[in-house]
Amino acid sequence: MLTGRMMDFPLTLTHFLERARTFFGKSELVTCLVDKTECRMSYEEFSARTGKLANALTHKLGIKAGDRVATLAFNHQPHLEAYFAIPCVGAVLHTLNLRLHPTELGYIAKHGEDVVVFCDEALLPLLEKFRADVPSLRKVVVFRNDPKAPRSTPLPEGFLDYEDLIAGEPSHFDWPRLEENSAAMLCYTSGTTGNPKGVLYSHRSIALHTLVIMSRENMGIAGDDVILPVVPMFHAAAWGTPFAAVAAGSKLVFGGGHFDAVTLLDLMAKERVTFAAGVPTIWIGILSALDAEPKRWDLSSMRTMAIGGSAAPPALIDGFSTRHGLEVTHAWGMTETQPVGTMARIKPNLRGGSPEQLLALRASQGFAVTFVEQRHTDETGKVLAWDGETMGELEVRGPWVAKSYFGDEGKDRFTADGWFKTGDVVTIDAEGYVRITDRSKDVVKSGGEWISSVQLENALMAHPAVLEAAVFAARHPKWDERPVAAIVLRPGKAATEAELAASIEGKFAKYWMPDRFLFVETIPRTSTGKFLKSRLRELYGEVLMK
Ligand code: AMP
Repeated sequence: MLTGRMMDFPLTLTHFLERARTFFGKSELVTCLVDKTECRMSYEEFSARTGKLANALTHKLGIKAGDRVATLAFNHQPHLEAYFAIPCVGAVLHTLNLRLHPTELGYIAKHGEDVVVFCDEALLPLLEKFRADVPSLRKVVVFRNDPKAPRSTPLPEGFLDYEDLIAGEPSHFDWPRLEENSAAMLCYTSGTTGNPKGVLYSHRSIALHTLVIMSRENMGIAGDDVILPVVPMFHAAAWGTPFAAVAAGSKLVFGGGHFDAVTLLDLMAKERVTFAAGVPTIWIGILSALDAEPKRWDLSSMRTMAIGGSAAPPALIDGFSTRHGLEVTHAWGMTETQPVGTMARIKPNLRGGSPEQLLALRASQGFAVTFVEQRHTDETGKVLAWDGETMGELEVRGPWVAKSYFGDEGKDRFTADGWFKTGDVVTIDAEGYVRITDRSKDVVKSGGEWISSVQLENALMAHPAVLEAAVFAARHPKWDERPVAAIVLRPGKAATEAELAASIEGKFAKYWMPDRFLFVETIPRTSTGKFLKSRLRELYGEVLMK
């Protein structure tokens, strides 16, 4: 082989950070605080504070290369500082998903061997529920609600105030020259089949993912954008939008812990947001607020709104475009794909289609972005035809697709010939458009968050009056899906909906609780005796829509 003669320049996040400091000091960061006032800072201040944090991490907290440093936080600027300082000192940023049950959070933080956690002041009660389960944890640093305001209430013994931690530190930090394949970020899947599994992103994988989502073909992120990542920074890196915004020097707007439509619409209008990203539940709320008061918000600055995490209903995409002139871009991805895998763009040769055909393309999951490859296979692993009809499991590969989990779990998700098995059942048409028809794993996805049906069933089946319980995803107008339990009672036994709910209360996060308990004669089964969830969805999938 004749080797090319180009420089071996590592693809790391340090480059994005230093580039922002060098060129984009005047760009702005806005965080909506708890009381809905705004905290504004420049990229210059952000870069200086990130340097201070790097000094504090290495000198005060003793963080070494490869150490896992966790965050338990909503979207805000100090969280962004952690997003860069932690990986760029050579440590690993571990974002904890605050919507999970404390037992799961404890499992994840222990499995990740987190040594320090940066926690929002408002989330300290949640941290207290699992802190004792994490033997490796030696320090808690607390993000204040308002970084510019003095602290009003004292912190618990031994906890550090983030602002105090960085205050006396120099803003200059000698960033180490990192290997591009060194680990940068750890994100856990939500444990739908067994325990949550860790996905360990590298600097290189994040850098490449960032460049590809920034391209005009995908999200088209540039310096003149104003970006609102509604999708949380604690779930799949907010789809990489914080990295892309810093790489481009775009103005960033953070919603803090606010997810209600009115606050988000106020922010979009006031800050002249050009690009926002979120799960369908968020956009359903925003569309109905816009429908109710179409003249209240001026969204003329909005370029496109990315939607993903679960399927975007065609009526939603259509509603935004026909009633409000707003464009939605549908994307598919997973924690294991960092997350963007496919995007629903309309290829030039298909743009002449009828409005129905164009809507069907926009509502599909689209086709793989550059550097990601897609195929679908049957149970024997045979690669299937792209005919728009044959269903099979979607498999992907590419430089930001996991090749194994952190730890040795889930080996069966990786094929011998180097593909990742997504667990999504799809068709692929002749143009390459993927359409998700089902999920092989039957989890319930409520407002963008997974709920494991199996764990709920196991708990319900512990009730003395319950013979069988099958939890399935019923369609929901707001949350997209909600769990509903089909219950077969033991002969001669009785139980009410309220008694069943009470029997599992406190064992799960509140949003896991089934919305309904349906008492049925039998639960349909597959040929191998497993609950046939697709049949349950056919029979009762609409019970919450009435
Ligand atoms: P997570 O790892 O929590 O982000 O969940 C990934 C899963 O969410 C995928 O395997 C899909 O089942 C589902 N998902 C993500 N995006 C979409 C989409 N656009 N349409 C349908 N399902 C989606």
